[in-house]
Amino acid sequence: MPPINFSPSSFSINTSDLNQQRIAILGAGGLGACAALELSQRGYKVDLFEEHSEPIKKASYANEGKVHVGFIYAMDRSFHTAHQMLVGAVHFMEYLQRWVDVKPEEMISTPFYYLVQKGSLLNSQELNSHYQRCCQVYKELSGGGKKKYLGLFDSLEARLLHKSRIDGIANPEFTEDIFETTEYSVEPRYIAEKLTQAISSDPNINLFLDSKVEAVAKVGDRLKVIFRNAGIQIEEEYTDVVNSTWNGLLEIDRTMGIEPLGTWSHRYKFGNKLLIPLKEADLPSCTMVLGPFGDIVNFRERGAFMSWYPVGRTGWSEDYRPPEWDSMYSPEERMDVFQRSFEELKKRIPAAGNLKFPLEAVDPVGGDILALGNTEVDQSKSRFHERFEVGIRSFGNYHSVDTGKYTLIPYLAVKVADRLEGID
Ligand SMILES: Cc1cc2nc3c(=O)[nH]c(=O)nc-3n(C[C@H](O)[C@H](O)[C@H](O)COP(=O)(O)OP(=O)(O)OC[C@H]3O[C@@H](n4cnc5c(N)ncnc54)[C@H](O)[C@@H]3O)c2cc1C
Repeated sequence: MPPINFSPSSFSINTSDLNQQRIAILGAGGLGACAALELSQRGYKVDLFEEHSEPIKKASYANEGKVHVGFIYAMDRSFHTAHQMLVGAVHFMEYLQRWVDVKPEEMISTPFYYLVQKGSLLNSQELNSHYQRCCQVYKELSGGGKKKYLGLFDSLEARLLHKSRIDGIANPEFTEDIFETTEYSVEPRYIAEKLTQAISSDPNINLFLDSKVEAVAKVGDRLKVIFRNAGIQIEEEYTDVVNSTWNGLLEIDRTMGIEPLGTWSHRYKFGNKLLIPLKEADLPSCTMVLGPFGDIVNFRERGAFMSWYPVGRTGWSEDYRPPEWDSMYSPEERMDVFQRSFEELKKRIPAAGNLKFPLEAVDPVGGDILALGNTEVDQSKSRFHERFEVGIRSFGNYHSVDTGKYTLIPYLAVKVADRLEGID
């Protein structure tokens, strides 16, 4: 689908009766798109601003698509993060299907193995008790299976495999134990395409591309959005503004005098994509735990995702807005990150070494990860092991949304609409 491009002269801002609610959503990523679609379904008109030339091409496109059920957040002993992920996971598919016709079986990965690495921050016993708690809480949140995980599965499972099984899946030199789980990823590009079609064809949604929001300011009881398109600064007033710009979130919040909840950081992480059709047996989907390790996801016909954190986490920033990492790396530098990550993954997952593919099939994209905390994941005290202080912060009719994880997008999008209607 060709990108929609508006020149300033062709702007057609929603000009309904000024007494009515006029809503601006900043950032057409996963959250902005889903929130716009939910508001549209509730009868609202929305102006959706995106600085890039295409919607949903940033973190919500480059990510691994894991619909987390809390397993990875075992270091958060309060269980708040796992609980938050489970809430997102229970609602993920049901809410997404309110807006787009997605078929779970067309986009889910193979189920994840959790590979306990030698040097893991937690041992297998500690991990097992956390995983079993996640499975139990899932049962409660899903009403005993009434709400199916990804629309397909009644229950959640994590089973410690006998050590004799390690060899067939991973290299025992690096692997202490393996859990077989029923956690899955969904292919983010498939969802991005469906959401892009939906927001582009919805008459209630005005999508303004190449429109970078520079600031939001209070004007009486309204909010003025100041944005730039084709070098021209434009201002427009709204009754309600939702900031869902992720990499731009803190910078725009700051123009409203809003500071983050604590120290923060932006990390640029590569989510290399291998675009060749795969069979389930070709490659196991794996998450290596617990610490600065990596993931492989087998998306069957839709290829694979591969990341090795120590190589692929290339950028770090504690500024309000991180550098424009997406445009900073040459194709050669990107391919080098993929190659070095792949070498590390092959050592741990021998099946990866059997894959045959041309280099043109590799798409080494990356994305920003915004999180509270500025200590790396190899430290047990790192705040990156938590992700529960996320979601919507409302300041009158200005709403700032730290999505936290892809997993939470559909759930938070509905919550944003509730908040604008004063329901929540
Ligand atoms: C490599 C990688 C792997 C990940 N894996 C997972 C995973 O497996 N599971 C999971 O749950 N989460 C994962 N995440 C996190 C997840 O991708 C994000 O939490 C989520 O996609 C954020 O969605 P969003 O809509 O808030 O942000 P985005 O999708 O980044 O959308 C924000 C939009 O705002 C736009 N924007 C920014 N500034 C401005 C501005 N000033 N004006 C206008 N527009 C602006 C951007 O261009 C962008 O389109 C991963 C992240 C990365 C990078």
